[in-house]
Amino acid sequence: MSEREVYDIAVRCWAGLAAVVMPILFLKTAPYGRHTPANARWTLPSRIGWIVMEAPSAIVVAICMLAAPRPVGVVPLMLFFLWELHYLNRSFVYPFRMRGGGRPMPISICTSAFSFTTINGYLNGRWIATFGVYPDAWATDPRFVIGVALFAIGFAINQHSDALLFRLRGRDDTGYKIPSGGLFRYVSCPNYLGEIIEWCGWALATWSVAGLAFALWTVANLAPRARAHHRWYRATFATYPANRRALVPGVY
Ligand code: NDP
Repeated sequence: MSEREVYDIAVRCWAGLAAVVMPILFLKTAPYGRHTPANARWTLPSRIGWIVMEAPSAIVVAICMLAAPRPVGVVPLMLFFLWELHYLNRSFVYPFRMRGGGRPMPISICTSAFSFTTINGYLNGRWIATFGVYPDAWATDPRFVIGVALFAIGFAINQHSDALLFRLRGRDDTGYKIPSGGLFRYVSCPNYLGEIIEWCGWALATWSVAGLAFALWTVANLAPRARAHHRWYRATFATYPANRRALVPGVY
């Protein structure tokens, strides 16, 4: 079998797996951050965990671009820029902006996320660099233009919301407070909402199964986690705003 044939099967399985994982994550919340069990034994500092588990996304896609068999066009370069904007930030900036980054993260979370970002990086990177066909005219196609706009809006929401969360803590503080401001007025997890909008934009701009699979995975990971955070806030703070929803203003 050629690499392309294996790729086509793998990317469809990857999308299908997201649909299988989502109901599981509604039943069992991924054990990191506030959901880390008090008796977790095999752990590492969360700052190191975030670098190790997110860096493959930035590195694998960069390798795919370097390994492209022909010069890549303007559109793949623009897509590469968006991807690296998100993942260089997530891998090497975000972990140092976190407060309380010495909190323990289970090694199982780090290794499973490392596998995820490696596979997902390969599927998306190989597509934009080699298997996808993006003539320069794609840059003015409405799917690309709207997709990039959604990506930018989602990125801005995600960054702003994460920044509001960081401000809730002092330098080595690991406690939790009720977040406020920005889209926290409406939902408990606007950072997750921004992330979902971003990768839906990516799916549209790349118009690819790999992009669609990643958007599905993002919903599969973050919709159950938003519900778990929301329930945790309500159970923890008696004064938690009653009209705030979990993830989508006025809806969910
Ligand atoms: P959280 O919202 O749980 O936490 C973000 C940061 O803010 C953490 O450092 C957390 O500390 C801190 N924090 C959160 N709530 C409070 C509060 N009420 N008071 C004080 N500090 C708080 O996000 P995640 O850690 O789950 O995710 C981090 C980023 O990664 C997000 O931007 C998310 O969108 C993205 N992500 C993307 C995924 C994808 O599939 N594409 C999957 C998972 C995450 P602590 O860690 O101590 O709880």
